[in-house]
Formats: sequence, structure tokens, C-alpha cells
Amino acid sequence: MAAVLQDRFGGSVPLDDYCNTDEVRMACVNLALRYPALAERIDLPEATYEGNPMQALRIGAPAPQGIKPVFMAIGALHGNEWGSSEILLNLAADLLGSYSERKGLTYGNAGFQYSDTEVGDLLNEIDFVLLPLANPDGRRHAQDHVYNWRKNRNPADRIGADEDTVGVDLNRNFAFLFEFTTAMAPGTSTSISDQPVQSTYRGQRAFSEPETRNIQWLLARFPQTRWFADLHCGSQAIIHPWSDDEIQHTHVTMDFRAQAHDGQRGLPGDAYREYVELGDWNAMQALAKVFADTVKAVSDTDYPVKQGFEFTPSCASSHDWVYARHRIAQDPALKTLAFAIEWHAGTEVFWHEMPKIIEDVCAGLIAMARAAALSPP
Ligand SMILES: [Zn+2]
Repeated sequence: MAAVLQDRFGGSVPLDDYCNTDEVRMACVNLALRYPALAERIDLPEATYEGNPMQALRIGAPAPQGIKPVFMAIGALHGNEWGSSEILLNLAADLLGSYSERKGLTYGNAGFQYSDTEVGDLLNEIDFVLLPLANPDGRRHAQDHVYNWRKNRNPADRIGADEDTVGVDLNRNFAFLFEFTTAMAPGTSTSISDQPVQSTYRGQRAFSEPETRNIQWLLARFPQTRWFADLHCGSQAIIHPWSDDEIQHTHVTMDFRAQAHDGQRGLPGDAYREYVELGDWNAMQALAKVFADTVKAVSDTDYPVKQGFEFTPSCASSHDWVYARHRIAQDPALKTLAFAIEWHAGTEVFWHEMPKIIEDVCAGLIAMARAAALSPP
């Protein structure tokens, strides 16, 4: 790995290859040091099983008028999906550089642009909170040992010498229909498992893992988070809740909290459909379409907009829980419109493919945030 030691992220962080776990951390540290007026490093409270600390960045102009709404984005919850870290590090560097040097941003061969005024207005209106590496242990294991490692490295449920029984799928460890065996209809093929050997193993209980507890903490630290995006790769789409069933807008009590509907969820075409407020549904569809239309304009790349259930039926994933929080707490002030963005078809992505993907997703996220800032939920 012959890294070009340029200075975008400071120090020896490479620009011509994937960062390792330490380099992602260094990039966060360095960006916060370089732009102290605009960026704040946030050290998450818990270290991982292997002792790796986790860092997020808050990015935004000072807000003398009060607290600004937050657009939160996290990446690399899955150890084998490396590029999400570089996407979020580049988004941070783009926003910080543009604001402080009063230079616009240009994405893609067609020259899709944001002016310095547009970036300035955005960082005056909202803050970004970015967590570029949500599964440091998993990334380290995937980069050093097992290329396709998805879970974290929690050894608690290891069975004998079976390496596949190590780890929890962090994106099945959130408190949304975690008890899927009672919540879902028998025989449904939902992407979640209670067997440690599976790559979608949910863990012993919701938020059993330091990594997911850190994300829970981050949302509590920024209760003004109005938008959330979790970056993954493996399929090309932008996804929004719900993932357990089809949706409806009329029966408020037909929702994930209702025990009366246990055993009914997950079947297409039947009476059970998950409730979502019409206004939220329209807003999430509209923002997802802004992302998709922007990437189409940047590089003629298609990102279909999909409801989670249409994409892959699943339980206990990050974006469903983040959007569910206001219903769980019965507090409309906690409402966060939530998305999962899946970039690239397949998880094996060569570095030379990443610069285009980074530009696509950064341009799309900025467009989403600009549209979102106009109408907070
Ligand atoms: Zn993933």
C-alpha cells in the first residue's frame, strides 16, 4: 500500500487507498484540530471490545441565535463495507474547506456545483454530526484477516472454536422489533437471526453492544437531530422506514408497539401494515428523491427509492429505530426522519471505484440536507 501522503485529512492519512481503523480516527482528530471554529470532535463514551475508541464530528457554523437542527450520518456499521468511512470523511473535509475558504464544491464529470454561498447558508442553518466508523473492530478484522467480516468482535457468544460465532450484527441490535420471533408472523423470511453463527446475529438484547450504545448516546447528546442517514454498501438504493411490513396511514394503533398484532407482521398483501404518518412518509419520500435526482445529475447513476420492507424485510436496524424513537417515547419532539443509503452493488469494491462513489454520495447528502433545512419536521 503506497499511500500518497497529502494533507486533506492531515498527517499520514492516505488519499489513494482505504483508511485503516487508526487512520479514520486520525482523520477525525486532525479535521477538528484544523477547523476549531467549525468542527468539534466528539469522543463517544464507550470503547469497543478490542479497546478502539470511537469519534464523531459535529460540523457547523456557530449559532448565536440558538440550537440548530442536526443532520446525522453514520457509516461502516458493517465491518466489510469500508468506503462509507471515506465518504463521510470527505463530506466533512468538503464542507469545512468550502466554508472556511469560501470556495464552492464541484462533483462529477458534468460539474455539478454548490456555490460557496449555498454551503455557507447550509452550515449556518444546520449542523452535521458525522460518525465515519461505527464498527472499528469489524473493519480491522475485515482489513487484516477476513475480508467479508460484517459483525463486530464481541466474543460473548462464541461456540467452541467456531470463528463464525464471534460478533453481533450491529445493524440488527437496535430496539425496533428486536423480539422478532414473537413480533413477526411464523415462516416469514426476515433478515435477522438469534443464532450467533449467522452474519445477521442480533445479539443477546437490544443495545447489548458498545457500538450501538454509542449511537444511542450520540442521538441523546443531539436531541435536535431531525434527519439521520446510515451508509451501507451492497446494493444501490436509498431506503426509508419501515422494514417489517408494508405501510398504511390510517390505523394509528396498528404499529410495532402493539402486542395485539404480534405474530402478524412481515407478510405482504395481508391486513397488517405498519403505521406511518402521511406527512412523514411524504417528507421521507421527497428527501430520498432529492438524493436520487442529485446523484443522477452528478453521474447518471440510479438510486431507486425504496421502503425498507420492499428492499429487504428486517428488524432491529438503525434507521427504523431512529425514526421509531418518537413513537416509543411518545414525544413528537424526538422525531427524526431516517434513511439507509446503500451505495454500490456488492460489497467487494476496489479503491479505484471509490472516488466516483464518494462524489455521488457527498453531492446527494448535501442536496438532501439543503432540502431538509428548508422544512424541519
Ligand atoms: Zn451494511
